[in-house]
Amino acid sequence: MWVKLTRVEISEAKKRRRRTKIKKFLIVWTCISAISSPIPSWTEFAYRSYISFHESIVRFLVRLTFGIPGVFLFNCWLTYRERKGCERPKSFICLKCGEIKPADVGVKCHCGGDLEDIDSVKWVAEKDERPSKDR
Ligand SMILES: [Zn+2]
Repeated sequence: MWVKLTRVEISEAKKRRRRTKIKKFLIVWTCISAISSPIPSWTEFAYRSYISFHESIVRFLVRLTFGIPGVFLFNCWLTYRERKGCERPKSFICLKCGEIKPADVGVKCHCGGDLEDIDSVKWVAEKDERPSKDR
């Protein structure tokens, strides 16, 4: 059975999603720093074609430290998007029949049930019940 999350659960889920986004940002930042560090920039290509291993490590660490203000700015951007209402639900679920619908449908399911943001509901098993489409 699909049930609505409480306000506390919704805010915890939001925080969890934000932490996941920040972790992904850090992973991408680390990868970009690691890949770009041993490659000379366009202006450096004029006088050298490679960067020594030692210098690559130093450049990598310097670029990693730029990730700290990067995380701060990324967090500000996420807050801005959230306040502006950019984070629209991607899909909805009918609490009555459990059917998943895209975000561009009306507020009612064809069965008459209310559509809820899929991120604000959770599945609660009733005895031996499992989620299924054909109910
Ligand atoms: Zn329905």
